[in-house]
Amino acid sequence: MKLSEMMKEKQLLSFELFPPKTDKGMANLPGTIEKLCEFKPEYISCTYGAGGTNVGKNMDVCKMIQDAGTVPVTHFTCIGNTREGIKDQLQNYLDNGVDHMLALRGDLPFGWTGTGGDFKYATDLVAYVRKEFGDKIEIAVAGSPEGHISCRSLDADVAVLKQKQDNGADYIMTQLCWDMEQFKRWQDKIDKAGVTMPVDVGIMPILDQAATINMALSRNACVMPRALCELISKYWIFPNPFDKEPFDAAAAQKKEDFKKAGIEYTIKQIDEYRALGVNGIHLYALNKWKDVTDIINESGIRTLV
Ligand code: FAD
Repeated sequence: MKLSEMMKEKQLLSFELFPPKTDKGMANLPGTIEKLCEFKPEYISCTYGAGGTNVGKNMDVCKMIQDAGTVPVTHFTCIGNTREGIKDQLQNYLDNGVDHMLALRGDLPFGWTGTGGDFKYATDLVAYVRKEFGDKIEIAVAGSPEGHISCRSLDADVAVLKQKQDNGADYIMTQLCWDMEQFKRWQDKIDKAGVTMPVDVGIMPILDQAATINMALSRNACVMPRALCELISKYWIFPNPFDKEPFDAAAAQKKEDFKKAGIEYTIKQIDEYRALGVNGIHLYALNKWKDVTDIINESGIRTLV
């Protein structure tokens, strides 16, 4: 059954992984996936590097996910990809039993001003995949509850989402959004625009100060609510969380305390999203099974119906 069909019947749980850069990381990944699979996620997705830098590893990770007994969803971008290249790569995924994708424009590599490929936008990629592969591939697309950083307006971005649906996309995976009031406004807007695709909500666990600030601001301009800012300030590591050798004598303790508080914050956010009746919780697992295990167990996501 298609994931988008399942989402209409129940709230799904899924995880997102990235291909590790090192051989050691790759060797450890099957163990991580095995741990994550104890929660019986309906799927696990794997990111796709800018310019296809990790294409081979991405396929290896998809195979690990398959071997662990769940559905792999590969992210796929327009960056540096030609029509023919896209066709060949997707056929290769299909030949290896991977028939779910997240169709993205892709993050532009540093210094680039365009995709450097045949398609400028995810809408074009979705239309092309449908034309070339019919219904052989289930297609997820990105949605940005706060509006994509370079969109003209939130309304224009919602119109793009509707276009993705009209071009054949099946469901939405969202960009992280900590601003719940904004998320509700977006839900309302997409409803009014006729977007009926299920919404699988992307959740970035708050585990580390520098990573949290980086995720919010390096590309996405995500709002950090006051409560989250308070946590970051409360456990601030001096001179700043990005410093590799902080002079703050309490740095190790603050890191640990911040993670504990961040996990509690993440669990509350999951509660709020679940209460809104979203179609799925997609946890960016960051290749960390221990923290994810705490979040899943304490949130009751697999035990509370
Ligand atoms: P698009 O939908 O194409 O939108 C990009 C911008 O162009 C938006 O501002 C939109 O409003 C505008 N736009 C779109 N179509 C049109 C049009 N026809 N006319 C005019 N304007 C238009 N990136 C990676 O590189 N690898 C990954 O693995 C990856 N995984 C991700 C996973 C999730 C869940 C999410 C939400 C994002 C992920 N990204 C990843 C990031 C994503 O590639 C970036 O956010 C990228 O900047 C935009 O991708 P998109 O598919 O949303 O682009």
